[in-house]
Amino acid sequence: MINSNLLINNKNWQRLVRSWNSGKLPHALLFHGPEGVGKEGHALELAALLNCIAATENGSCGSCPSCKKTKSFQNGNVKLILPLPRGKIKSSDDSSEKAFSESSLKEYLELLKQKEADPYFPIRLKGANTILINSIRDLKHDLSLSSVNNEWRIILILQAEKLCIPSPEAAHSLLKVLEEPPEKTLFILTSSQPGAILDTIHSRCQNLYFPPISAQILQERFIQSGVDTVQATIIAQISGGNVRLSQKLIEKATDLMEKLFLLLNAFFSSDPSIWNKCIDTTARLKTKDISQMEQLFRCAVLFFRDLLYYSATNSDNEIIFKNQMGKIDKLTKSYPEADWHSCIQHIENTQNYISRNGYLPLQIICMILDIQKSLRGEIYEPFCLNDWTPV
Ligand SMILES: [Zn+2]
Repeated sequence: MINSNLLINNKNWQRLVRSWNSGKLPHALLFHGPEGVGKEGHALELAALLNCIAATENGSCGSCPSCKKTKSFQNGNVKLILPLPRGKIKSSDDSSEKAFSESSLKEYLELLKQKEADPYFPIRLKGANTILINSIRDLKHDLSLSSVNNEWRIILILQAEKLCIPSPEAAHSLLKVLEEPPEKTLFILTSSQPGAILDTIHSRCQNLYFPPISAQILQERFIQSGVDTVQATIIAQISGGNVRLSQKLIEKATDLMEKLFLLLNAFFSSDPSIWNKCIDTTARLKTKDISQMEQLFRCAVLFFRDLLYYSATNSDNEIIFKNQMGKIDKLTKSYPEADWHSCIQHIENTQNYISRNGYLPLQIICMILDIQKSLRGEIYEPFCLNDWTPV
């Protein structure tokens, strides 16, 4: 295999390898599924396998000249099609090379290098909103010539929904060649929005679904690479099976924990200045990137899930915030009548209201008051920052 850091979907991969080994690989595949699950990585692995000179029954060797060239995007038989900026393109007859200015070409090469190191890295060029019809015309021209060394030609179409968005002209242009491709040519389309792809494209491709990566696999991967167990568990739980997102969250884990500490402090405090800090932090996150606010709320839900679990079982087996056992023990004893399940619902409802554009300060204050009502007891001492930042 060319990428040792790709988490292989065994079911899909074995199916592809079996088809290849038995000479029954379809001429067009569509890998679809949510973002960050390795669709493009698997497409590159398959591209490498087809021309590998020392392939095993499980995949490419990863080290022959063809594999190396495929991995570094220098294989003339592996053609990459993806959304490009318009650049100096004036008409549909212009070469797609005109899409690149000197700076965007530099940007593109830099993105390819990052993709080479990390199969989950997205190649997104600035101002690239669609797959240009010019790219498809150039592709058709290339396909009319013979391949290098008479090897397999693999056409990777990334973000394939952009063939159809905003207009389907590139998709229409692709249809004919997709239907009757030249010999020894494989199309692999990848998309996280397959619903936006024309039915006529779908019907010419064999569809393969790539599901989210399980939280357990993500967690093990982080722990193996030396990430603190508690952080690894939390991030694995809140990243929704998206490897790319989980990597980003790990980089900012300390920051996330600090914000979580602020939020939890507000739940267990009657001090309005602490509430205001919590409102400010949440509002800033919402303005910057609402998904970050949602991740913070999901962390808070995990903490209350621990409180619920511990109050019911008095065991720390399944506790996620193991580094907060002292607090968890104290809180469950201080609020023996608390309805932890309702607390979780208050947090989830508030997240939904805010995501649907509810008035944030009011929603946060209502959430804090609702949670405090569900605690059914005197408000507890505030948390201390040192408890929440890893040493
Ligand atoms: Zn090889």
